[in-house]
Amino acid sequence: MRLNRNEKTKAAELTVSVAQIVPCTEAEGPGRRFAIWFQGCPLRCPGCCNPEMLPFSGGQQIVATEIVEQMAIAKERFAVEGVTFLGGEPLAHASAAALLAREARELDLTVMVFSGYTLAEIRAFADPDVSDLLANTDILVDGPFNRDVPETRRRWIGSSNQQVHFLSDRYRPDDPCWHKANTLEIRWTGTELVVNGFPAPQARNLWQRKETRRG
Ligand code: SF4
Repeated sequence: MRLNRNEKTKAAELTVSVAQIVPCTEAEGPGRRFAIWFQGCPLRCPGCCNPEMLPFSGGQQIVATEIVEQMAIAKERFAVEGVTFLGGEPLAHASAAALLAREARELDLTVMVFSGYTLAEIRAFADPDVSDLLANTDILVDGPFNRDVPETRRRWIGSSNQQVHFLSDRYRPDDPCWHKANTLEIRWTGTELVVNGFPAPQARNLWQRKETRRG
């Protein structure tokens, strides 16, 4: 880890609301990635596939330095090339997400963010943490999930209204990886079954989770 003194203090004090972390996945963006789902989203897209991550209550409170440490371990152990932020809504946790994105870049990891807000809305927030997050993001997938227009061509994208913005030159839209088949990963952590990625359309009702709390 290469946190400077100010960053160290901030990261040591900052607690992140986390719904789930998967240290190495190939189902949430290009290559192998460390994925973190934030707990809490102010939006309510009909058909949201992570309803249990909507309330701001719940989840795990994890100190940011611990997550940065986990990223570094994932890079060494699994050769992950980047981190992916999902939710929940990463922009609703902008301060933590910005810090984690900066630290990911310090570790030479790329950053991919899924947001229910459009890029135009994000830019209009005029929030320094949001700007900081955007400045450290390589790929932004933006816009609310719309179950009426499910995406059928682009990998990792939920609905066809959502745009993929390449905010750096680390990735290219013509990379064939965007058109390979989606995958679903199921893993047993020793205490629970963790599912992430995209199920085949005919299996969607088998894995869709229910909202259990309201925040
Ligand atoms: S932005 Fe994402 S997490 Fe929030 S309601 Fe929409 S699909 Fe669900």
